[in-house]
Amino acid sequence: MKPEKVLEVCPVCGSSKLYLEAGGYTGKVYHCKNCDYMGALIVEADEEMARAIREDYEKSGQKRRDD
Ligand SMILES: [Zn+2]
Repeated sequence: MKPEKVLEVCPVCGSSKLYLEAGGYTGKVYHCKNCDYMGALIVEADEEMARAIREDYEKSGQKRRDD
């Protein structure tokens, strides 16, 4: 079996800089320090998946000048 390291990453930007906020009545809330995402959903990804999310985020974050 090959060992795969699973990371918990932000579903928006793929950063692993997630902090668990104090749970309110909605339950667990994660806060991403990279993009300010807040929510209960996080993604369990390996390094490759995390990188793919980050690249996607960077692309979508680019300013377009085609209009
Ligand atoms: Zn994020």
